[in-house]
Amino acid sequence: KALPAWLDVEQYLSDAVVRPNAALTHAVQSALDAGLPPIEVAPNAGKLLKMLVQMSGARRVLEIGTLAGFSAIWMAQGLPDDGRLLTCEYLPEHARIARTNLDMAGIGHKVEIRIGPALETLAALAEDPGQDEPFDFVFIDADKENNSKYLEWAIRLGKPGTVIVLDNVIWEGAILETSMDDVNAPGIVDALEMMGKDPRLDATAIQTVGSKGWDGFAIARVM
Ligand code: SAM
Repeated sequence: KALPAWLDVEQYLSDAVVRPNAALTHAVQSALDAGLPPIEVAPNAGKLLKMLVQMSGARRVLEIGTLAGFSAIWMAQGLPDDGRLLTCEYLPEHARIARTNLDMAGIGHKVEIRIGPALETLAALAEDPGQDEPFDFVFIDADKENNSKYLEWAIRLGKPGTVIVLDNVIWEGAILETSMDDVNAPGIVDALEMMGKDPRLDATAIQTVGSKGWDGFAIARVM
């Protein structure tokens, strides 16, 4: 669905400005070779995640939706050496490929992958006395139906000042025409409404075009 000009511009920006390193290029290729869907963030969005992690001074990052570890590599590259990223993935095969990619990128020591449905992992985290330090940064990029529940967990496991990034908030415009996708679109709309109305959050949302089509992301700060 991406227009050729969007792809050309994205490639130019990636080459001229973003400059993903070899480990990132390898991570994308390994996922394609393994038959995983190409639903990782684009390089310019991955670099934005890395910079947001750096600029917010985050030391503890939570990711929901690992795939092959592409966004996790970017975010871990933005963490200090003693920073930690915990990423949730329910498919063991995705987690296995991600583990290899993270280790090859030289940031594997910063990243823990928890295998299982994210809602179960998050509930277990809340009960784990060893995980008492709040997350500073949360990236939500998994099953869209559960977006609002993930937002709720991000607030609960975060603290005032925690940054939350929610991916795929435009979904080719389906947010205004939910019949286009009655599985994902309602979950995206619920989360956007929550970001706008919940007094615990202050948020904005940006639409984007590129290799991932017409989409966008929302970013919130826990109040
Ligand atoms: N963040 C990744 C990146 O940009 O490189 C892409 C993540 S991909 C869009 C979504 C991932 O979430 C998939 O690997 C999928 O298996 C996983 N997933 C979907 N539903 C899940 C759930 N309920 N719990 C944990 N992982 C889930």
